[in-house]
Amino acid sequence: MTNQFLDLAVPQIAELTPYVPGKPVAELERELGISGSIKLASNENPLGCGEAARAAYVAAAAELGRYPDGGGFALRRAIASHHGVELEQVTLGNGSNDVLDLVARVFLQPGRESVFSEYAFAVYPIATMAVGARARVAPAQHFGQDLEAMAALVNERTGVVWIANPNNPTGTWLAAEPLRAFLSALPRHCMAVVDEAYFEYVDEADYPDTTRWLKAFPNLIVTRTFAKIHGLAALRVGYGLSHPHAAELMNRVRQPFNVNAPAQAAAAAALADLEHVERSRAHNRLEMARLKAGLDDLGLDSIPSVGNFLTLDLGQPVGPIDQALLREGVICRPVANYGLSRHLRISIGLAEENDRLLAALARVLDQMNASGAG
Ligand code: PMP
Repeated sequence: MTNQFLDLAVPQIAELTPYVPGKPVAELERELGISGSIKLASNENPLGCGEAARAAYVAAAAELGRYPDGGGFALRRAIASHHGVELEQVTLGNGSNDVLDLVARVFLQPGRESVFSEYAFAVYPIATMAVGARARVAPAQHFGQDLEAMAALVNERTGVVWIANPNNPTGTWLAAEPLRAFLSALPRHCMAVVDEAYFEYVDEADYPDTTRWLKAFPNLIVTRTFAKIHGLAALRVGYGLSHPHAAELMNRVRQPFNVNAPAQAAAAAALADLEHVERSRAHNRLEMARLKAGLDDLGLDSIPSVGNFLTLDLGQPVGPIDQALLREGVICRPVANYGLSRHLRISIGLAEENDRLLAALARVLDQMNASGAG
């Protein structure tokens, strides 16, 4: 059914398809009348948050009648000191998605363009098109971002280049040298966003921490989140680090209370809880290896991933397999909206969840093969 207000909306809204989130457990269980389901669909930390963050959140409940600190001073100070940058370089967001939106609102408009890769994170086109700018998509190479192809699309209309390192949903990553060369060659009128939502999971030796490059590249904006390794996805907190002048512009359009008070408190505590980060990283490393081995046993290929998720190539349209997994109470993430119709993204869960996924997948593939043969 066409939307009766579509002709009243600004034209770019007609082009937009909404972001498809992972299905919540409660919704699936209601639909199918089942219980005990598991969700491996949103790249969350299966260990949740650390104790310190939880305690800070609970303590903040004493002040729910008060507005948050609109400047987010304590959290920004903690973030600045964590990264060795100035407070004025930090922009807080309601999740890092919010920061991506702030970037688009400041640096894009109708007549301008943004550049990103095929298979790159779905929020880049949404943020771009929501402000009426044009999305230019460079073909990927082996599912990864092809920096040369992206550079070829940069022109005088380009306001922003979006780079996910590592990328979701592919889990692919870019090494320091090619990325540095790309940023060096980028014209100064074009902002480069390096989205490091999964930064803490990456173990590769030549994976760059681009927060160290902010001095060298004044047009660089690095985004990070508390939703992944810090286990605070529900609270929605992320941030951008940039030149103070870019941050000042983003803070002009930022809603003053975009990050709520319990979220600010929990995020500051999470940042200091290095043990929880290390525990989460170790868990991911171990379970990623186990999951990969289990998938190998099933004869399933995945895109090599450095994040907290794996994207499988099922070699066939993923819909029926995804539906069968849902009936088994296992929620994964189809990524057909990215143009990956044979792929299924699986977030690394707890050991028992990963075991359940592997067992369910084995059963479902057996059933498919049996019905295919019969
Ligand atoms: N960037 C990437 C690459 C992501 O995968 C995500 C989460 N899906 C985000 C940014 C946004 O995370 P959040 O808004 O929860 O900080």
